[in-house]
Amino acid sequence: MAAFACAPTGGRLSHDVLSRYMSLDTRGKVQAEYIWIGGSGEDVRCKTRTFDKVPASVEELPEWNFDGSSTKQAEGHDSEVILKPVRIVPDPFRGGEHILVLCECYRPDGTAHPTNTRAPAAAAFAKDEASAPWFGVEQEYTLFEADGRTPLGWPKGGYPGPQGPYYCSAGAENAFGRAIADAHYRACLFAGIKVSGINAEVMPGQWEYQVGPCLGIESGDHMWLSRYIMQRVCEDFGVVCSFDPKPIPGDWNGAGCHVNYSTKPMREAGGYAAIIEAIEKLGAKHLEHMAVYGRGNERRLTGAHETAPIDKFSYGVANRGASVRIPRTTEADDCGYFEDRRPASNMDPYVVTAKIFQTTHLD
Ligand code: ADP
Ligand code: MN
Ligand code: MN
Ligand code: MN
Ligand code: MN
Repeated sequence: MAAFACAPTGGRLSHDVLSRYMSLDTRGKVQAEYIWIGGSGEDVRCKTRTFDKVPASVEELPEWNFDGSSTKQAEGHDSEVILKPVRIVPDPFRGGEHILVLCECYRPDGTAHPTNTRAPAAAAFAKDEASAPWFGVEQEYTLFEADGRTPLGWPKGGYPGPQGPYYCSAGAENAFGRAIADAHYRACLFAGIKVSGINAEVMPGQWEYQVGPCLGIESGDHMWLSRYIMQRVCEDFGVVCSFDPKPIPGDWNGAGCHVNYSTKPMREAGGYAAIIEAIEKLGAKHLEHMAVYGRGNERRLTGAHETAPIDKFSYGVANRGASVRIPRTTEADDCGYFEDRRPASNMDPYVVTAKIFQTTHLD
């Protein structure tokens, strides 16, 4: 494979050199990458520690802590935030027996940190496990050159040809960054993340991957781990990944994070009635949902570019201009799932999946 982009330092930081060291044996020691969500609610943070053996379960792993004053999660005078491991997956970057450890943040007094959106989401899902909520999340993202300003494949300071040839495209003149989409896909499968597919998007340099169906809290866990893996893959390639819902203003598609959703009753024969009931409930709380569906979503939900306007709820069969779409197959089968098209690419999947479950099922 060609050398990765590490332009400013030439060959000295090349991954060819790094791979010599990464193939060295760790003499039985296990490297564990503790991962958590930072103070913006969109940044993913991580740090590593060494263990003497592979943990049999997440319960075996110790709590850890970090300096919350450096992540906008604490004041300097009382800066400690506790990391509580909640899920272990194989580490696709170090390979071997090494692991990624997804964590929740807690205060020293044992209460959930205000930025810990997983704890309330897990509590909501625990209220009715028999309903078996499934989520399939479509994560769109936009790749930029290392300058953070030029989308991949775009001329510097200019614009490519208008949208049309790029969606689900092939060819060097249409598809930009497939190496990243594919590396991420494989890394996620290695880690056991339930990626169900990928595709190039409408705007050149924009891609999508889908995670699901996942059961309850598993959806947010897999989504956050998949976003972390994306950041690491992009770091390797010297490319910047943006989850901004409208990275380029104007006649260019924004980036969303559609959430496909079903409960057991919706998936069973005659479940269509339960689906319509759930969608009506979503409509009644439209603005409440919009408030937690991602920062800057108003720049994306304009009514153009396959979106519905942010201030008006709508739904329809096979309608990609509606807030909620019912797949044609769901109508035909009289059961299945529906798609909430409103969430932005930077939304918090813990917040959004739990909100949908709360509104449609628990309330
Ligand atoms: P779109 O046609 O909107 O582009 P995608 O194929 O990108 O849809 O994504 C659909 C997602 O919905 C996938 O992740 C898929 O696994 C998920 N999904 C399929 N069936 C269900 C279901 N019954 N409940 C929830 N999610 C589902
Ligand atoms: Mn899709
Ligand atoms: Mn899409
Ligand atoms: Mn789209
Ligand atoms: Mn979709």
